[in-house]
Amino acid sequence: KMNKDIGQHILINPGIVDRIIDKAALKQSDTVLEVGPGTGNLTMKILENARKVIAVEMDPRMAAELTKRVQGKPAERKLELMLGDVIKTELPYFDVCISNTPYQISSPLVFKLLALPTPPRMCVLMFQKEFADRLTAQPGDAFYSRLSANVQMWSKVTHVMKVGKGNFKPPPQVESAVVKIEPKFPRPTVSYDEWDGMLRILFIRKNKTISAVFGLSTVQALLERNYRTWCAQNDIPLELDDAAADNDGDTAMVEDSVSGADIMEGLEGVDPDDLPRGFHEVLAESRSAKKQGKRKSRGKFAELVRSKVKSVLDETDLASRRAAKCDQGDFLNLLYSFNKEGIHFS
Ligand code: SAM
Repeated sequence: KMNKDIGQHILINPGIVDRIIDKAALKQSDTVLEVGPGTGNLTMKILENARKVIAVEMDPRMAAELTKRVQGKPAERKLELMLGDVIKTELPYFDVCISNTPYQISSPLVFKLLALPTPPRMCVLMFQKEFADRLTAQPGDAFYSRLSANVQMWSKVTHVMKVGKGNFKPPPQVESAVVKIEPKFPRPTVSYDEWDGMLRILFIRKNKTISAVFGLSTVQALLERNYRTWCAQNDIPLELDDAAADNDGDTAMVEDSVSGADIMEGLEGVDPDDLPRGFHEVLAESRSAKKQGKRKSRGKFAELVRSKVKSVLDETDLASRRAAKCDQGDFLNLLYSFNKEGIHFS
């Protein structure tokens, strides 16, 4: 019996199994991680071509079926079957990952693989076609997104092939595609959280100019908050901190005040999970400030942060560019320049 909730679609076309194995360019000395072996159609082929297979399967019935399939065969000794959710499992070292991935775990799986202390040499993974398209998209492509920019920072991603619904039993609702993910070695020496934090801001509106995105009142409030934290952590006195003067009703600052309404400006339709860390706190703070009739800091401190942003955008020449068309070099320049100004994203 199939349980659709955990994405059990068995690959029934042996030609596709062969192409996946071929693309993985396995060495006989390799240890391979297989995610969700199911009944073992891929597993049996991997076993022929590698030293060892670690297969992580969540469904005990599937695991039992695979155990039966290798029983008494030479392959039996090469297979280590781990029962459980791969996302929650501490993974041992492996050289290559092969998976006909249950699509609900696509994103966490990719990031788990890339975040391993010693990432694998190669991953050949089947995904829902839309997810694969986002992984491989280049600057300017319609599907270019935070996922593309993020994954491509840590790895080289290549499209391998499209796979139609008819190659699975039962057929899924969606088309599929196989991609190759080769983690960069050595890993770039950029902080993952900084990189991701900055991309989360830029991709709030990937088609807006970068200066417009940084001009959003929420983004400004977030940068102020991050800069304040950074100054505190580094014992930098905030002489310009005029937060105390915020509540004196200075009318000159009215038009700049962050209200509950304009704090949402530019955020319509953004998935809360895509927002940067600290964003929810910034929203909550500004709402409660509004309730109490206070205005958020819009004085010299805000001006200082604004001028830092301006000098970063001038220096990098990226003010009128859009995230949708920026490549890794652009993002790295931007991050480097922000960090130099003491503006951080993690
Ligand atoms: N590899 C087999 C094939 O290609 O025929 C089965 C692929 S099927 C799309 C996905 C498999 O992953 C199922 O056997 C399912 O039970 C298993 N699975 C689902 N979620 C999982 C998780 N979080 N961790 C490990 N296995 C999972």
